[in-house]
Amino acid sequence: MFDLGIEAPRILVRRVKYPRIEFRTGRLTLILPPGVNPQEVLEKHGDWIAKKAKFIKEHLEAARGLALAERSDREFRELVSSCVEGNARSLGVEVNKVFFRRMKTKWASCSARGNVTINSLARFLPDRLVEYLVFHELVHLLERKHNDRFWRIVASRFPDYPESESLLFSYWFLVWGGS
Ligand SMILES: [Zn+2]
Repeated sequence: MFDLGIEAPRILVRRVKYPRIEFRTGRLTLILPPGVNPQEVLEKHGDWIAKKAKFIKEHLEAARGLALAERSDREFRELVSSCVEGNARSLGVEVNKVFFRRMKTKWASCSARGNVTINSLARFLPDRLVEYLVFHELVHLLERKHNDRFWRIVASRFPDYPESESLLFSYWFLVWGGS
């Protein structure tokens, strides 16, 4: 046994072919095919799990003292719209449509056709992080990958982007509360 430093894993038995380990909402979840011993999976992937657990723990600790923003859904949508408008103009990109959806794996996404989807849970982020999130997504309309070029463009507007990225993880685990 090893100490994860976080809650005991949740174990789900499903008709999957191989065991799966998920951390996306900050709680370790093992998805196992019937008949697989959870302890064996935990031991086999112990190093990887410990690394992930450490990452989550550090970001949760950093989340202590962070407050969730209080704004209405309308205020949130207005904020996002104004960020999209301003940044689309300054980046010279065309945004087709903005969608809001509750997503369990990411804060935002965008399609090659210029559709931007923002996680409705971003309603709880401070203004500056909402602005960062929108900018980050719109930069993807210029560069799909997280490569040097991508981060250079991001840094032109948000020189402190590593801090913003890190904060987004802290807020992520905070809004999910390890659920
Ligand atoms: Zn990205």
